[in-house]
Amino acid sequence: MPVAAKKSARRRRVEPELIFGDLWTFDPAPESADPKLQTRYKLFIGGKLVSHKRGRYFESINPATEKPLAEIALASAQDVDAAYAAASAVAPVWANFPGAERGKYLYRLARLLQDRAREFAVAEMLDGGKPIKESRDFDVPMAAAHFFYHAGWADKLAYAFPGATPVPHGVVGQVIPWNFPLLMLAWKLAPALACGNTVVLKPAETTSLTAMKFAESVMEAGLPAGVVNIVTGAGETGAAVVNHPRASKVAFTGSTAVGQHIMRATAGTGKKLTLELGRKAANIVFEDAPLDQAVEGIVNGIFFNQGHVCCAGSRLLVQEGVEEAVLKRLKNRVRMLRVGDPMDKNTDIGAINSKAQLAKITELVQSGVEEGAEVYQPECELPKSGWFFKPTLFSGVEQSHRIAREDVFGPVLSILTFRTVDEAIEKANNTAYGLSAGVWTDKGSRILKMSTALKAGVVWANTYNKFNPASPLGGYKESGFGREGGKQGLGDYVKLT
Ligand code: NAD
Repeated sequence: MPVAAKKSARRRRVEPELIFGDLWTFDPAPESADPKLQTRYKLFIGGKLVSHKRGRYFESINPATEKPLAEIALASAQDVDAAYAAASAVAPVWANFPGAERGKYLYRLARLLQDRAREFAVAEMLDGGKPIKESRDFDVPMAAAHFFYHAGWADKLAYAFPGATPVPHGVVGQVIPWNFPLLMLAWKLAPALACGNTVVLKPAETTSLTAMKFAESVMEAGLPAGVVNIVTGAGETGAAVVNHPRASKVAFTGSTAVGQHIMRATAGTGKKLTLELGRKAANIVFEDAPLDQAVEGIVNGIFFNQGHVCCAGSRLLVQEGVEEAVLKRLKNRVRMLRVGDPMDKNTDIGAINSKAQLAKITELVQSGVEEGAEVYQPECELPKSGWFFKPTLFSGVEQSHRIAREDVFGPVLSILTFRTVDEAIEKANNTAYGLSAGVWTDKGSRILKMSTALKAGVVWANTYNKFNPASPLGGYKESGFGREGGKQGLGDYVKLT
């Protein structure tokens, strides 16, 4: 066969028959483990659960039912002050523990998470709205993995920074978001503790439960009082944590707007700062990609955790020649996703974390329709109560559309097209953010080229949303700075002398 004919035969795809028939129905398969929740949670300060000074509480709501799960203490600036006092008092003691001794506590915390894995998974699902299969198979095991990984580093820090002596910062103030409450806690606490810092941590106001359950594990593990302190509350409490004069380092994950505010507030204070902020990741599919595999990666990239993922592949860039084939497959796949009760083991997409987030997603989707993109939503039935949103595909998206530029943080995919490699790079980088990206292609050389050309902290090739404690994650541009995970993540929790 002449070379040209061979090439065109290779390029021609055999389109599989796409089945648009009836979907299978499943019997209910609810998870039955007891999350062992209390009706009211105090603050965790100085190794004890303590009542807060002002005596005010707020409710943590189950987003799948809109019913309250527990009352959470609203920490005041005075409470935050008490937490810093406890963390400061023990800081020199913890810093001088032999690394192997600190590691021993981290191993204990990891094992305790494993011991109570089902309980934590159910609590995380109830509080956050994520499907049980995700909290059970991802959040909790990955949180334990972060403690195991960093336990291993605790007595080997000298090898992580050859030629330098790593010294802890002292007390670290940490503020985390609601999308992966326990995992973000593990990302923040494990490296800080391994490096010899003590911590004041604030979980997000809509998802404090697993942090408070983790406080029980800290007590069970016997950590010296004050090494870990957990204060609950909203933005005001978060501001008190980051602005406290005793915080030597601040680590924040959340919105770019709050991140910018924190950057201004900490400027000139000498505090070391790391920020993990917003994103609008490009997931790029070239014509030579294995399309069925790519479609699975696209679905995982945007619908995992209802799209409440810092790395979500929310902008799909498809090479023009395969746009139709990808869209057809995607629509078929999205129809099969089961949206509903997060407690059910067969659920793929659970509840949106809060009413406010649902309103934000709804508003942005409306803007996509008004700006002229073509919307597709499967005909699934949403539960009568709770905050749910159908998986949504937008095709014909222009770079100027809000859904292509703004962080929807929900199960909404914007699909754009490109013709050449250079155009793909230009469009992918045409964003204020730069946290992650995905590339789907058969060519290794193209993967290498893309991985250096894309301005994103993580670039996945022929896969998406793969996480490992040994692999650092962090942003470029308005996605923030600093890294979490791996040796690079440790570097943000020590001063080198
Ligand atoms: P947010 O930034 O408002 O809240 C994140 C955390 O910061 C929460 O614990 C909150 O209580 C705290 N906070 C709020 N104001 C603060 C202040 N002035 N000082 C210190 N802490 C403060 O984010 P959100 O409302 O939870 O979500 C809004 C957007 O943030 C989302 O739509 C998404 O774009 C982004 N987000 C990003 C991530 C991520 O992993 N990068 C995670 C969750 C949300």
